[in-house]
Amino acid sequence: MTPAARRQATALLRQHPDYARWRDRQRENDPDYGVFLEASVWADEIRGDRRFYDAGKEAPTPTLPGFPDMRRHSDWHYRDQGGGEIDTRLAQLAHDLVFGMRALKVYALPWLAHLAGDIHQPLHTGGRNDRGGNQVYVRAPFMKRKRLQTLHGYWDDLPGQSGQHGASLARRLDSLRHLPSPASTEAVGDIRHWYEESRALIDRVAYPEDALIDADFHRRAQHYANLRLRAAGKRLGRWLNYLLG
Ligand SMILES: [Zn+2]
Repeated sequence: MTPAARRQATALLRQHPDYARWRDRQRENDPDYGVFLEASVWADEIRGDRRFYDAGKEAPTPTLPGFPDMRRHSDWHYRDQGGGEIDTRLAQLAHDLVFGMRALKVYALPWLAHLAGDIHQPLHTGGRNDRGGNQVYVRAPFMKRKRLQTLHGYWDDLPGQSGQHGASLARRLDSLRHLPSPASTEAVGDIRHWYEESRALIDRVAYPEDALIDADFHRRAQHYANLRLRAAGKRLGRWLNYLLG
């Protein structure tokens, strides 16, 4: 991100109702960077946060100062045969980030950063009528942990452990630098394109034969996950430069 976009992002995140939590939890040398990392997983963390509620399943919780609503919005993270709205939501959030009132911009930034990553995970854009691989169990006999897990969870974990920080996170980022990244001629914020790329990977690489993840499948899946991660990061950076710069 450009210095101007970084400054803008930092100023917005400082006004977020959960800023103090992020600042206390972050563990980077550059706290603004650390806060941005925390903010980008906030949309997943509110799934287990009792201040928020699942619309249609739970009674609404009191709206806290600064939040437009307290819904968890689980269906914002994906779009598959069963529903979800990740693509249209991303477009709305980008719009809010530029044209919204200040409080809406503050709310939109963590969501946009999060969903820009999710949309690059193939199984967030569909599956085989199995809720994006959430209803398929796969075996991975060679893995030390999680020998049995959902295919969706397997793909979610490929970027690396959540909560990675400091030197270990920096090493992980370094390991991606040699990978090809999207052309600089590509349109900025081309949500449809990212979505279609993910869709194309569902049949090509997402599903192992006989629900068995062997070392060969794992190597290939890891490679594609790395490519998606690299693309997501580059694109999010360019997009935020455009939206906030
Ligand atoms: Zn998500």
